Amino acid sequence: MIRTTFHVVALVAGTALAIATLASPPSLAQAPQGTVAFTNARIIDGTGRAPIERGTLVISNGHVTAVGPASTAIPAGAQRIDASGKTLVPGFINDHAHLNVDRGATLPVRDDLIRRLKTYADYGVTSTVSLGSTQADELEGFTLMQEQDRVGLDRARLYTAGLNAIGKTPEEARTSVDRLADLHAQAIKFHINHTPNDMNRPTWSAIIDESHKKGLKVAVHIYYMEDAKAAMDEGVDILAHSVRDQDVTPAFIAEMKEKHVSYIPTLTRDLSVFVYETTPAFLKEPFFQRGMSLYKEQVDIVTSPAFQEKVRKDPTTEMIRKGLAQANRNLKLLSDAGIPIAMGTDSGVAGAGNVGRWQGYFEQVEMEMMNKAGMSPMKVLVASTGDAAKVMGLKNVGTLQPGNWADLVVLRANPLDNIRNTRTIDSVWIAGAKLADVAPATATR
Ligand SMILES: [Zn+2]
Repeated sequence: MIRTTFHVVALVAGTALAIATLASPPSLAQAPQGTVAFTNARIIDGTGRAPIERGTLVISNGHVTAVGPASTAIPAGAQRIDASGKTLVPGFINDHAHLNVDRGATLPVRDDLIRRLKTYADYGVTSTVSLGSTQADELEGFTLMQEQDRVGLDRARLYTAGLNAIGKTPEEARTSVDRLADLHAQAIKFHINHTPNDMNRPTWSAIIDESHKKGLKVAVHIYYMEDAKAAMDEGVDILAHSVRDQDVTPAFIAEMKEKHVSYIPTLTRDLSVFVYETTPAFLKEPFFQRGMSLYKEQVDIVTSPAFQEKVRKDPTTEMIRKGLAQANRNLKLLSDAGIPIAMGTDSGVAGAGNVGRWQGYFEQVEMEMMNKAGMSPMKVLVASTGDAAKVMGLKNVGTLQPGNWADLVVLRANPLDNIRNTRTIDSVWIAGAKLADVAPATATR
């Protein structure tokens, strides 16, 4: 018996109908220009679902339009890319970064921020969340954020919280949140620091309350579990660093679960505090050197004998080395308990002493450290893509699902076999366009 199937497709033009016979793989009506179909790819979609083997992913007009097995329809005229042996993952998302202008930079602020966003992109980081601007770069950050919803963006997306919320009184704190809300901040961040200028509890509590009134999530800088608990009791949404003074207790984990509080470990932030006692070997890696045009100035600082001696003598160095060991333990406890984890690094932060937090490279190191702390490669990937988007409320990014922006990384080796394979970048795509200036593929070690 001969069975003929007809597939009816409405063209974008609206009125015309085309009838095409289904073949294998089927062809649809003529694709809009710029339509690309990856075939024979392993596709990890960022939701945590098992990968699709030998799958097809179609992107058009900057967005994912189809994803599925080999039988997935490919529009006629689409550019086909045979991705045999390659793995497609969503572009990585860093939920705790700082897009701060270099104080000594000679470039205009906008150009300096853009070169940073391009460096992130070169490392496969296609979205970055700035949890703290400086006066010098805050407004340009908001401008860049407004300009990025377009096809063919050639830099990482930026989502900014603007300046950290602050106030001497609850009223001042609310005013500070209102200003940020008017600027369309992605989220609100504040600090519990134990410095003389620290806000008292009613003041920072007003930040949380006012942010929620404006529909904004709140992230808090903490170090101690007691502070994290106090912030949680007052309704905070996100812990922006690891708890580093003790094991998180079952009661603490239960409260995080009940209140849907999520967690950004920022392990490389702590690494950067003590790793420059001497010159770390990674500075010589070809993969690190990919970012050298941006990193150069700070490489000179962290390799200088005077700086390294200062690090060795600083009492903070030892405290943070121990703090990182504790952070690793807590990440495992929280991940095993099912708490939403989002990748974040604190890369790029401006300010005296905060050097060597490499934008782009450290997101890659962070993923490796999260894996070493006890998260499976799949959990690390979800924390660095789909869950990072969810935790920060980012729309239309994070997963390779129809309707989302086509932000993705093509890898030459499977990151589920070894998390370091996230470094085997073949190409980076943002809003449906391949970045032209990604350095040649670098072998994993
Ligand atoms: Zn930070």
